[in-house]
Amino acid sequence: MKQIDNNKDWDVIVIGGGATGLGVALDSATRGYSTLLLEQSDFAKGTSSRSTKLIHGGVRYLAQGNIDLVKEGLYERGLLLKNASHLVNNQSFILPTYNWWDTFVYTISLKTYDFLSGKLSFGKSVRISKKDAAFRLSTLKKEHLKGGIVYHDGQFDDARLAINMAQTAIEHGAAVLNYFGVTQLQNDVKGKVYGVNAVDNESHKAYAFKAKVVINATGVFADNIQQMDNKDAKNTVRPSQGIHLVLDRSFLPGKDAIMIPKTADGRVLFLVPWHNRVVVGTTDTLLNSHSLEPKPLETEIDFVLETANAYLNKKLARSNVLSVFAGLRPLAAPKDASEKTKEISRSHKVIVSESGLITITGGKWTTYRKMAQDTINKGISLGKLPNRKCQTKHISIHGAGGSADDTDHLYVYGTDQKHIKRLIERSSNLGEKLHGRLEFLKAEVVWAVQNEMARTVEDVLARRVRILFLDAKAARAVAPVVAEILASHLAKDDAWKQSQIDEFIKLTAQYIL
Ligand SMILES: Cc1cc2nc3c(=O)[nH]c(=O)nc-3n(C[C@H](O)[C@H](O)[C@H](O)COP(=O)(O)OP(=O)(O)OC[C@H]3O[C@@H](n4cnc5c(N)ncnc54)[C@H](O)[C@@H]3O)c2cc1C
Repeated sequence: MKQIDNNKDWDVIVIGGGATGLGVALDSATRGYSTLLLEQSDFAKGTSSRSTKLIHGGVRYLAQGNIDLVKEGLYERGLLLKNASHLVNNQSFILPTYNWWDTFVYTISLKTYDFLSGKLSFGKSVRISKKDAAFRLSTLKKEHLKGGIVYHDGQFDDARLAINMAQTAIEHGAAVLNYFGVTQLQNDVKGKVYGVNAVDNESHKAYAFKAKVVINATGVFADNIQQMDNKDAKNTVRPSQGIHLVLDRSFLPGKDAIMIPKTADGRVLFLVPWHNRVVVGTTDTLLNSHSLEPKPLETEIDFVLETANAYLNKKLARSNVLSVFAGLRPLAAPKDASEKTKEISRSHKVIVSESGLITITGGKWTTYRKMAQDTINKGISLGKLPNRKCQTKHISIHGAGGSADDTDHLYVYGTDQKHIKRLIERSSNLGEKLHGRLEFLKAEVVWAVQNEMARTVEDVLARRVRILFLDAKAARAVAPVVAEILASHLAKDDAWKQSQIDEFIKLTAQYIL
């Protein structure tokens, strides 16, 4: 809260603290505009912690002929590997092939994918024999297998990148607040937007902030903000749900990820190693409503299990699932009922309302930087901000400097790793594991509350150390220890501690199958 006490008029207010909003705040702050970001819950609580964890151009979009979108993603992928080197790693994928025609078509597609990445290539794609594919993917069914194509893409920790982006924006002068919801826009007599009303969701105190530019970066909530501006505004976003299952490494013990280019319903299925587990997904289910905590549908769970079982020689049952999570894509609303979600463009859109409110929707995690650049450029072209060049191509994200070498799980902290080790040197009990089955340490909880703006048990276990996504039963078991550490650092009483544990345990129910 100290961040906002002395500053009443802002150049830019950003509503929403997911990938898009944090990207916009970072772009704005690094151009020297005074910037305030308000997130109603925790950073990346929405879609931005629920992705497939890929930094990619999107092989699928190539098949759809969307070359510009793929090129943009591949360029941003290259920048992210440099600017967030601690969180983005170069992951090899094997696309198994079952007939010569597919081998031919996918080899050409993936060579094109390499070519489009230009100087920022992650490595050449190569065809491999059946023997090599079977050796590298020991859990893949060998029946009818003809061979495979190896290609490279980026892989990352989405919520941790969001937290590090918030820290980077703050380091460049932005005020970035979680648990601060926008309740109304402020419009002048001509209807032009000049600020927002907001509530601190912890103290319940109300605030009014003024700004030259107000940016709506609320993902699937974009229409709620647009309708604060104009109650008759048409819906522009339609949520499409995707789920993932998380398994232990015995289902994919090697270094390579698997990409199934065409599932029974014509989509893509990934099996990707992540934090020493395997993430499997995803689905694409159009919904009529949205929430911050979407629920996986039984049909989606069955679909992922069935599809994975069609390719794996190790039987995958519900009891093998360590965690299941769902996220909502903020897709542009289909123009007519016949348009299928997989055909709706994934490119982003910057929309200016009559009031001057700027809304940024669509896009991907991978392209957040370019989306932010286009959004702030729109504020400049509307004459609301002085013209200054975008800086973010060469801005390092907080923690960058090391490599994403995952032999020590603390690698995700990058340059902060040494501070966590120092905490342990000072208090050896902080070096204890939170749970026998997990690698995560008590020191990480202390670090999260002291330095990463974690306010609740869920903030820590879902978006700082990711245990909820990796092993939901273990997350449930460690909630009391985490509540204890948080309470002592935030000076909270026993009633707070108990309510934190109760709320978190209730939440874990939908992550456990
Ligand atoms: C299943 C799935 C898999 C995906 N996989 C990938 C992938 O592998 N790679 C990739 O590049 N992209 C991927 N994406 C896309 C990517 O995750 C999204 O494009 C991105 O996370 C969207 O971020 P956002 O900030 O727009 O939305 P969100 O992350 O949802 O953020 C919006 C924020 O706005 C806040 N908010 C809403 N209303 C208010 C208010 N009134 N006041 C204050 N705050 C408010 C919300 O609390 C929320 O935190 C995937 C998406 C899905 C659904």
